[in-house]
Amino acid sequence: MTTLPTTMTGVVLPGNSTVEFRDFPVPKPGHGQVLIQMKASSICGSDIRAIYRAHLGKGPEGYQPGTIAGHEPCGQIVEVGAGCKEFKVGDRVILYHISGCGCCEDCKSGYMISCHNEVRAAYGWQRNGGHAPYLLAEENTCVHLPDNLTYLDGALVACGFGTAWEALTRMRVNGQDRLLVVGLGPVGLAAAMLGRALGAREILAVDTSADRLALGKKLNLIDHAVLSNDEALDKILTVTNGKGCEVSIDCSGAAPARLLALKGTRQWGRCGFVGEGNDVKFDVSPHLIHPQITLYGSWVTSLGHMAELTERLSRLDLHPDVTVTHRFPLEKAAEAYRIADEGQSGKVAIVFA
Ligand SMILES: [Zn+2]
Ligand SMILES: [Zn+2]
Repeated sequence: MTTLPTTMTGVVLPGNSTVEFRDFPVPKPGHGQVLIQMKASSICGSDIRAIYRAHLGKGPEGYQPGTIAGHEPCGQIVEVGAGCKEFKVGDRVILYHISGCGCCEDCKSGYMISCHNEVRAAYGWQRNGGHAPYLLAEENTCVHLPDNLTYLDGALVACGFGTAWEALTRMRVNGQDRLLVVGLGPVGLAAAMLGRALGAREILAVDTSADRLALGKKLNLIDHAVLSNDEALDKILTVTNGKGCEVSIDCSGAAPARLLALKGTRQWGRCGFVGEGNDVKFDVSPHLIHPQITLYGSWVTSLGHMAELTERLSRLDLHPDVTVTHRFPLEKAAEAYRIADEGQSGKVAIVFA
């Protein structure tokens, strides 16, 4: 057995659009915990929006200054604490990125994201995350990573793909549907890929960035690229014979984009909001009630649905990692965050040798 180092360098985010490197001890797993050697750790839009530029959340809800960032970790178990029941040294694992109390209704249904107990802690926010060579995790937040999926695939499942999967399956996307994806950043690309996997026949995507639309086309994840401008709705309606899409999803979190998703939804259709922040204002009768639209809010996913997604990806040999356009070693984390902040790329990830 190889001996582990005693110290490591981790990335913390001071909240002024910079990255700081600090030394940490390599943690020892306690009861029910595992130590994971990081292999891939991607950057999420929420890391940029709520931590990197400024620490938005205040108090226990927010990023705790000095915490190792990164809530999309994936790696291999190198040490297990006492009392672990399912996972062992050598296992490749994805992490559900929040550890909850384990006892409340939300935790019991696998939605630790919604746990309200004060012990709830998200990796990379309230407890150390994946931007360091090792991560201490609760065994009950681990999901097996199948052999035919890469560590980078696993990192992407941990947040973005899980979020897209949850919303699309909740909206029951199927082969009768056209899917409208508004905001073709990493979560939008995930929605397009998974929407296709769930059977959506035609996928329309809207973004302000021509580069992002070109990436969606290049990866063959979208059928129609719509640049976000005054004509975007007309274009959506033209492509759909004036009807709009049976299912739409806003992954951008911008108010006009949310409205476009709603207006681009067909009568009796389903519209989901997963992009965070900001607000939206619309006339309820013409845009929601009269067109008989069901509006969904969806936040992350459950542990069970993450495992389900992982199994489907493995079975279909589908690889989220194709949406990664930039990979950096940990030492280049500052550059990784800068690129992610520009909002023109696909997914940005930190990968470990
Ligand atoms: Zn995330
Ligand atoms: Zn709980």
